[in-house]
Amino acid sequence: MTQPEQGDAGRGVAVVTGGSRGIGAACARLLARAGWTVCVTYRSNEAAAQEVVRECDAAARALGTPAGAAAVAADLADPAQIPGVFTAADRLGPLTVLVNNAGIVDRQMRVDEMTAGRLTRMFTVNTVSSILCAGEAVRRMSTRHGGAGGSIVNMSSAAARLGSPGLYVDYAASKGAIDTLTLGLAREVAGEGVRVNAVRPGIIATDIHISSGEPQRPARMAGSIPIGRAGTADEVAQAVAWLCSPAASYTTGAILDVAGGR
Ligand code: NAP
Repeated sequence: MTQPEQGDAGRGVAVVTGGSRGIGAACARLLARAGWTVCVTYRSNEAAAQEVVRECDAAARALGTPAGAAAVAADLADPAQIPGVFTAADRLGPLTVLVNNAGIVDRQMRVDEMTAGRLTRMFTVNTVSSILCAGEAVRRMSTRHGGAGGSIVNMSSAAARLGSPGLYVDYAASKGAIDTLTLGLAREVAGEGVRVNAVRPGIIATDIHISSGEPQRPARMAGSIPIGRAGTADEVAQAVAWLCSPAASYTTGAILDVAGGR
């Protein structure tokens, strides 16, 4: 773990869970370029997380602000590890953004084959931890708690509206809950300076498809996507960065599909 130091507040601190790779890493880089001090979390790939930290620090230096990005290890299958992420982020400056990005899929199978252990892990990482992280963020950002406001972006999935039959209905259901979290929390804290939105990516070319047992899924599905190809992590991050920005000041409770028309 990179030891966080007190950084220049700038736009404040952005925590990006699962920021070591894929969509989260792309979000971290874009937010750093936009002036946030980024704190990425990762589960096990410290080398990848440290590379993202280096890229974020380079972006900060290019902006003329002190380099203060940090990486914090936390397995979100164990919610007890969540508070430590936010106390580490507190050392970087005031929290103004949370990107609830970390998420997992599992081997493709039918519901009648799924075990309780699989479901517990899926919902703990994708749903329970996202709600707990949102609570940590609200306690820091809400004017009700003395904060100065901020923005939460939850990473949903097109699976939430497609259901993923025969693939991972459990994953789809865990993301359906993320959509509902977004709608409810947005209304709960709208009067407290905190905006809450979700991005719902379609099929994006990242390593997540390896753990589903079908690494070639983005290429195989390309023909069934109206735009004709899988998306990139950067294309999802652009939507996240916009939702975090002051340009989205009147947008809350929105669920933005970034799915190539699928
Ligand atoms: P990815 O490339 O597999 O990256 C996953 C990230 O989450 C990594 O930083 C990983 O850390 C971290 N992570 C994994 N398990 C974790 C755990 N138990 N605790 C804490 N962190 C954990 O995934 P991605 O494709 O970028 O997906 C990011 C988000 O987008 C997920 O919520 C996913 O459901 C959603 N999404 C993805 C797609 C897609 O097609 N790719 C589509 C729709 C939605 P390590 O590097 O340490 O492993």
